[in-house]
Amino acid sequence: MLQCTAFSELPEMGARVALMGLAEGPGEVSEAPDLDEFVLCELGEHEEGAEHAAQLWSAPAGRDLWMFWSDGDGDGRRTFRFKELLPCPAVIHRLSVKDGDACVLYDRHPAAHSWDVTDPLADLMAERIREEVRRDRDGGGGGTRGEKP
Ligand SMILES: [Zn+2]
Ligand SMILES: [Zn+2]
Repeated sequence: MLQCTAFSELPEMGARVALMGLAEGPGEVSEAPDLDEFVLCELGEHEEGAEHAAQLWSAPAGRDLWMFWSDGDGDGRRTFRFKELLPCPAVIHRLSVKDGDACVLYDRHPAAHSWDVTDPLADLMAERIREEVRRDRDGGGGGTRGEKP
C-alpha cells in the first residue's frame, strides 16, 4: 500500500497551543520541537472522506500528538484538529527479526499499519541507491558472471 500523498500547511499557532497543553509534552517553550511548515499525511492511502493525519509530537510514554485535517468540501478551506492518541499497539514479528517493528501510527488508525505503507519518495531514493551499488559492483568487481568455483 502506498502512502497518502496529501500534505498541508501547519497552522503553527494551533500546533504550539496543542503542544503546550500536553501532559507529557515538551513543557518549556525552549524544548518544543521545530515544527515544519508543511506536514505530510502518514497514513496509507485511505478513503477521500477520511481525515489526513500527521504526528507532531512523539511522547516517550503515553499519548502522541497528532494533527488531523480534511480538505474542505469544495470551498477549499481546510479544517484542523489536534488530538492526543495512544500509539497503535500492533507489532509485526518477522521471522528474521527478534523484536519486530512497531506500527508508528495511532491506535485505531484507518488503512494499513505503517510497515505495510510504502512512501513513494523513500522507495525512489532506495531504488536509486540500489542502482548505484549495482553500477559500482558491475564496473569494478568483474561481476559474478563466468566466475569459476
Ligand atoms: Zn491522507
Ligand atoms: Zn497500526
